[in-house]
Amino acid sequence: MPGGAPVLAVEGLEKRFGGVHAVAGISFAVGAGELLALIGPNGAGKSTTFNMVGGQLRPDGGRVRLAGQDITGLPPRRIWKLGVGRTFQITATFASMTVRENVQMALLSHHGELSGLWRPVAKRHAAEADALLARVGILDQAERGCGVLAYGDLKRVELAVAMAHSPRLLLMDEPTAGMAPRERVALMALTARVARESGIAVLFTEHDMDVVFAHADRILVMSRGRPIAAGDPETVRNHPEVRAVYLGT
Ligand code: ADP
Ligand code: MG
Repeated sequence: MPGGAPVLAVEGLEKRFGGVHAVAGISFAVGAGELLALIGPNGAGKSTTFNMVGGQLRPDGGRVRLAGQDITGLPPRRIWKLGVGRTFQITATFASMTVRENVQMALLSHHGELSGLWRPVAKRHAAEADALLARVGILDQAERGCGVLAYGDLKRVELAVAMAHSPRLLLMDEPTAGMAPRERVALMALTARVARESGIAVLFTEHDMDVVFAHADRILVMSRGRPIAAGDPETVRNHPEVRAVYLGT
């Protein structure tokens, strides 16, 4: 990969829950501006893999490296501070604040300026917040409360909030869950564009194969904690084991 180490490199990652070998030796790398889709049936070990990368779970084996730095087993906050963002969690926005205020809060947090006194600093970073809102296509909603936004727009705010932390890597575990098919395509297209423009590495999982095949640069297919296929979308689409185990054809 040009420029040295990939943004994320995972080597031989393993996790057991009692007798279940949830992740049984997974390796992959994601470069700047690249989207890697981790797919596989329910229980394949996708979320467990995300949680080991993000620090929510401590691996039983293997290494996680961020731009060459070993971050294996570090607590989530340390990993987040090193530039690993997670999008689209329910708690990511404050319903009682406006769209702009949510992004300003994230910018304050990123700059280490967040204190108990939100109001006195509330005017900071407005221009930077608006620039992020423009990038995700919801600047026209800046004054609205997050509590009244349409679901698809809320997802865009969450992307702007994640971007406010200038992440090197974004972890997106089923970001489009609960969205209508057309919204799903739009959100992933937006995410792909923003990630490529900013050189952010993206690791995502997604049930909608149209979305995966349209936006992933590479795909890693897992089943029962193990990799069964990896490569570009065309290679993976035509892989016989993937068709049999995963696509059911
Ligand atoms: P996926 O996200 O691909 O659907 P998961 O990573 O959530 O799969 O789960 C992989 C396996 O690990 C499944 O068999 C699941 O039941 C098990 N598992 C996941 N989390 C836990 C946990 N906290 N405790 C016990 N078993 C778990
Ligand atoms: Mg999952």
